[in-house]
Parts: sequence; C-alpha cells; structure tokens
Amino acid sequence: MSGIKYRKKYTIQVTIPGSKVYGNSISVTMFRPAFNTHSFSMNQRLLVLGNDKVTAFGNSVYNIDATTPRSGNLAPAGFYLLFVVHQDIPSQVSELSSPPVSSSSAPVIARFSADRGVAELQFCQDSNVIHGFDVNLGTSQLFKLGPVQSLCVSESSDSNKEKLYSRGVTIQFRNEEESRDFHSAFEQWQNEDVTQGTDLPNGTTSAARSKFDNKIEPSSAKMYFHYYGQLLHQQNMLQDYVRTGTYYAAVIENRIDFTGRVVVDVGAGSGILSLFAAQAGAKHVYAVEASEMAEYARKLIAGNPTLGQRITVIKGKVEEVELPEKADILISEPMGTLLVNERMLESYIIARDRFLVPHGKMFPSIGRIHMAPFSDEYLFVEIANKALFWQQPNYYGVDLTPLYGSAFQGYFSQPVVDAFDPRLLVSPPMSHVIDFSEVKEEDLYEIDIPLKFVASVGARVHGLACWFDVLFNGSSVQRWLTTAPGAPTTHWYQIRCVLSQPIYVMAGQEITGRLHMVAHNAQSYTIYLTLSAKMWGPGAEQGVVLQTSSCKLDLKEPYYRMSQPQPYTMAQDQQPHQLLQVQDIPVQTLDLEEAELLQQPLENSGAQLQ
Ligand code: SAH
Repeated sequence: MSGIKYRKKYTIQVTIPGSKVYGNSISVTMFRPAFNTHSFSMNQRLLVLGNDKVTAFGNSVYNIDATTPRSGNLAPAGFYLLFVVHQDIPSQVSELSSPPVSSSSAPVIARFSADRGVAELQFCQDSNVIHGFDVNLGTSQLFKLGPVQSLCVSESSDSNKEKLYSRGVTIQFRNEEESRDFHSAFEQWQNEDVTQGTDLPNGTTSAARSKFDNKIEPSSAKMYFHYYGQLLHQQNMLQDYVRTGTYYAAVIENRIDFTGRVVVDVGAGSGILSLFAAQAGAKHVYAVEASEMAEYARKLIAGNPTLGQRITVIKGKVEEVELPEKADILISEPMGTLLVNERMLESYIIARDRFLVPHGKMFPSIGRIHMAPFSDEYLFVEIANKALFWQQPNYYGVDLTPLYGSAFQGYFSQPVVDAFDPRLLVSPPMSHVIDFSEVKEEDLYEIDIPLKFVASVGARVHGLACWFDVLFNGSSVQRWLTTAPGAPTTHWYQIRCVLSQPIYVMAGQEITGRLHMVAHNAQSYTIYLTLSAKMWGPGAEQGVVLQTSSCKLDLKEPYYRMSQPQPYTMAQDQQPHQLLQVQDIPVQTLDLEEAELLQQPLENSGAQLQ
C-alpha cells in the first residue's frame, strides 16, 4: 500500500487458510524498522491499529477494516511494513528461499543488473529469471530480520500510479557471510545507481539514498541542519536588511511573476520568502525546509493566517520530498560565502529539475563571482604573525618550532572573511557567471576559472579578493543583490584568499592565474589559487612569467575577521597607490593573547615576511 493517510479507514484483504478465524483475534499492525542508512531519528516503531470490522469472503479470504493513526506524533511519515496478525501470527509476504516457488532444488541466485535502464535486483534459478520477484532498487529497502534472513520491500505499481502497493520478499541465506555480502552489494548498487525515489505521495521522503546523501558526509549534514534549525541563525539572516530587503523588493515589485502562480521556496528556513511570495499573490507556496526550522516556519505561517492559508510547509530535503504539483517559479536563498559555499546551489538546481515547469522562473536566476587581486600588507602581516607563536624555542621548556611551518601553512589556508576597502584592489575585477536556469548540478562539483588582470598600480599583491552578486530577473523590475566591497555590507561580507608568498607587480603589468574550486563532501570547496606576474614592458609579448605564487585553502574553515579593527578607516581619503606603498609595517600582533606570549624576544621573528 502506498500513500496512506492519517486518520483514514482502509480495507486490507488477507487469506487465512485452514483454521477458524476469530474476529477479535485479528489486528493490523504497522511496523517501521530502524534504518541504518540514515543517521538519526529513524527509530523502530510498532503500532497496533486493532481492527474495526472483519468481513469474510468465501472460504479463507477476509477483508479487515482498520483506521490509521491520528497524527505524525504517533507515526511519523515514512516507510512502514503492514501486517495483519491473527492469533499472534503475522501475515507473511511472499517467501523466496531455496527451494522457492518451483520444485527445483537448485539454489536461488540474486543478480543485480541495470540492463533495463534502472538498477534492479532479480532472482534466478537454473539460470532463469524468476519473474514476479524482481524489484527496482530505486524504490526498495532491505531489512535484516535475523542473522541469515532479510526482507526486501519495494514499491510497485500495476501500471498506473493510483494502484501503488508495497511488495515484500523474504530472503533466506545459507550463512552469515552470504547475508553480509548480499547487504553490501545491495547498498553499493543503490548508492551507485539510485538517485531519486519515484512515485511517492505528497510530502513523504524517498526511501532510497538521495543525491544529497550520496555526496554529503552525514556528520556535516547533521551539523549544517542543526545550525539552521536554530532561530538565532535565521534571525541573523533576517537582520541582514540588505539581503532581506532586496528579496522583498524583488518579489513585491514583480507581483506579476507571483500572482496566481505556484511557488516552491527552496530551503525555506523561517518561511520568510514564502510569506513574501504569498504577499505578492502566489496561488500556493510549498515551503521546503530540511532542518527543525520547518516547525518554526509552520508556527510563523500559522500566525499569519491570511497568507498562511496559501502556504504548505514540507519538512525534508528538496532532493527527497515529493510535491503534488509543479512550480511556476522557484524562490530561494542558497548562497554561501563565495556564492558556492555550503553547496546549496546544487540543491537549488536539483529543485529546478524536480519541481519547476519548463522555462519556469527562478528567483534569483543567475549568480556571478567577482574576483580581483588585492594588496593588503596589514592583513598579510596579521596572518603571518599568528604563526609566530610556534617560533618559540622555549615554551615551558618545549621547543615549538617543529610545528612552525605547519602552523604558517594552516593560517594561510583559511580564506579571510571581512569587509574591506575597495581601494585595496590592484586591478578592475573580472567575473564568472553561473546561470541557475541552465547549469547542471554536476557542473558545480568543480569550478575552474582562468584569471587575467592588468594591474592599475604598482603593488605587492597579497592574494585574490572575491565577492558575488545574484540577479532577480523579474518581468517588471530587475534587481541585483550585491556583496561587493564598498556596497552596504551583508552577512556574507567579502572573501580574500591570501598568498603566503606575495608577488610584485608594476602598473600596467599583466597578472594571470587560476582559481580552481573542487567541491568536497563537507558541503564546501577546496580552493587552489595560482597568481603569476607576467613579464612587463618591452619583453611582454613573449609572455614570460616572472613570479608565481600558489596556495590551497579550505572554504569550510574561514577566518572571520570582522571583529578586528579595520585599519583603513583612518585613511579613507588616501588614493590607492598611497595605501599600497605601505610596506614597512612593523611585525606585531593585534591579538592580545598572542601579544603576551610574544613578549619574550624572538630571534628570527618576521624573517618570513620580507
Ligand atoms: N529562505 C530562508 C532561509 C535561507 S538559509 C531565508 O531566506 O531567510 C537556507 C535554508 O535552506 C536553511 O534553513 C537550510 O536548512 C535549508 N536547506 C539547505 N539545504 C537544503 C536542502 N537540501 N533541502 C531543504 N532545505 C535545505
């Protein structure tokens, strides 16, 4: 049975051969096995529904009426096994063991195959496929009933979606090793070949591992959704008035795109964008949110009933939930630092492919990463100084210097997040466009951007500064949400990748390089940055590279520098080249704790900084 609803009466037909049947000894139970593929909140549950009425048909066929539980408190939405229990004996699903349905004594062999375009599990005997027992791995789950017995349950359909039902096959193994091998093969095939569940009813989640589960480390996802499940972090985003105000303006000024339309809010958080869409006249908004914030969103939406009656909150990942209808427009705020951090853009793209009508609108529709080399001696010295702690040869009698090199590398592998003065930029920026309506999800796994700039001033280049903007391409008004330096600051600030070996450039000199970002399973990216100063002046045509500097950074581990004093506020009226000539800042730390530690004389402190 599929798509069963709460507080509804269902009729289940069973065959109880032979024995006399007592109505009061029949009950219907729903059993939810513990999942081990999902990491938490998937506990085992057994619900006894009792029976409302038993009607006999002929000799041994009975119709049992039973009413499903009242709410999700008792039976959270999910995958259940349903049994009719007569005199404490549960009903059986089709048995398949050796000897199985046929009289042959040859063992039954399980075969995984993708011959018909979908990953399937087939059972063969005497090298013939036993028809009627093959299951689609995309809609199946495997449960261990004992050391050598398992149950495979799958969703099936007789041809149309209305007739969905679940089928189970019990599998008897010869020994535990065989059982282990089978389970691991099953899991492997499911992981490799199955991405999306199909034909599941509104609001339930797919039993198969989703695209999200396949690429994201469970511990990362757990922390991520825990973070977003807290109101204080949603408040932080809501209080970013540049962000929230731009979304509000973009939606309200483009009512025409929302009025009478079906909207999906991808990663709804507190539900704020859903409420904006409803204000703009949306016919219905599906607010999909995977974290516990979904419960707060429900509360907020219920407290705004005139808008809330057109909003449905669906708790789950956009990769997994099913919606009853397609969306005319998607709205989302999937941007992280450097646009791509958190890898939520991929979820936005998956939502596009799963829920949006062809040529439907996306708010926002494109994002751009902007990049320019910068010069900031002060920042460079500050980072280098952090590692000086490890230059101490006598820290409570311990020589810390063996770890100095690693500490130095470690500090330079952290992208710096803060708001900087745009006059620190050494050349006009270039940009890389990501078109959300066209890009493939896989294209975001690796982003490779060739860099080319012409220095406007002579300077020591300390790295690459990056920021982003996104476009709301409304039918009435186009609006950009920008996080550029010099523009009103947002909670994304800007990001700077700092080179441990700066490069020198002269005005007019070409700077080339590469920003190569590779996604990792902790919802972020490893960044490989290379900047080179090309030969300048008469020999420039030969394209000779004079200096090259590279670094590797982890976007997941940024250095949030916003609380640091901003050194350039005093020098607002200076021209860029004046600022950039400051080379001789004494080596000292801003960090009080380290300043105390550094009071002992350090012979070679700052040696790396020349
Ligand atoms: N739309 C809200 C929240 C934005 S933050 C606002 O603009 O204020 C992004 C939200 O998306 C978080 O609440 C996070 O839990 C949710 N989210 C991230 N990835 C998701 C996914 N794959 N499926 C569903 N929700 C997701």
